[in-house]
Amino acid sequence: MVAEYPATNRTFQILQAAERGKYAIPAFNCYNADGILGSIWAAEKMNAPAMIEIFPFSMHFHGPEFIKFASEACHNAKVPISLHLDHCTEKEDVYKALELPFDSIMVDASSQDPEENFKFVSEIVQIAKTKNITIEAELGRIQGGEDGVPTVDMEALYTEPEFAAEFISRTGIHYLAPSFGNIHGPYPPGGPMKYWQLDRLAEIKRLSPEAILVLHGAFPIIHDLFQKTVELGVRKVNLNKNLHDKYLEFWKDHVSNTEMTGLQRGGIAAWMEEAIESIKLCGCNGKASDVNSIN
Ligand SMILES: [Zn+2]
Repeated sequence: MVAEYPATNRTFQILQAAERGKYAIPAFNCYNADGILGSIWAAEKMNAPAMIEIFPFSMHFHGPEFIKFASEACHNAKVPISLHLDHCTEKEDVYKALELPFDSIMVDASSQDPEENFKFVSEIVQIAKTKNITIEAELGRIQGGEDGVPTVDMEALYTEPEFAAEFISRTGIHYLAPSFGNIHGPYPPGGPMKYWQLDRLAEIKRLSPEAILVLHGAFPIIHDLFQKTVELGVRKVNLNKNLHDKYLEFWKDHVSNTEMTGLQRGGIAAWMEEAIESIKLCGCNGKASDVNSIN
C-alpha cells in the first residue's frame, strides 16, 4: 500500500516517530551553511533525527538557491533530517515558500484576528497538501523577538486550550506552537520557571491528543523544566540562541589571528558541540531508525 500524505512528508515522519517514542526533535535555526552543516554533522554523529529551520529573512537574503542547497544537504544526510521554514509572517512569503523545497512551514498568523487566521491557515493547509508540505501554526502570541521576527509590543496572549482544539480541527494543521508563557528572547527576572504555565500546556494536549506540540522560546534552557514539556507532549523544540552564542564566541576569540578555513572549522565544531547537547537533551540520540523509510 502506498502511504498517503501527510505520512509521506519528512517532517511529519520525524515528528510522528518522536510522538511514538515520547522524545523531542531539535529544530536548529540556521542562517548560513556553517549552521546547516554543523547541525547535520551533529545529528549524524549522534545517529539522531533532526530538523533544520530557516527564517524568511534567509529565504530573501540568500535566495532560492540557498533553500535548494539546504534541502539537498538535509535530504542527503545519513539520518532523517527535514527542512522547515520558521515564523512565516507575510502571506506572500508563505506562497513563495510553498514553491520551494521545504518539508514544512510555520505559518505565523498569530497577529491577525482569529477568524482571518482560520481562513488563511486553512487555505495554506490545502495548498501545502498538493506539495507534500506540512504546516505548523502558532496560536496565541509567543511574545518577544528573535532575528527575523518582529518584536511585538503587546501583552502576552496565552493559547486557550478549547480554542486550540477548534483551530486544529478546523484548519487541519499538523503541528501547534502554543503560547503558555514561553517567549522569544530574554525573559524578565524569574525566567521560564516563573512564566511557563505547564498546566495550560497539559490542558492543550489533553483537549487535542493528536496534536504535535512545538516549543518556541526555550532559551535559557532549564533542563528539568524542558523535560517536563517533553513529558507533556512537546515534540519539536526550536533552538537558536544557544547555538549561535557558541559559534560566535569561537569567532570572537579567534578572528584576529585565524584564517577563514580555521574560523569555519572551529565555528562549526563549537556549533556541533552545542547541537549534540541539544540532541541529548531532546532524547533523540540513537533514534534515527525510528523514522519510517523516506523516499
Ligand atoms: Zn519561534
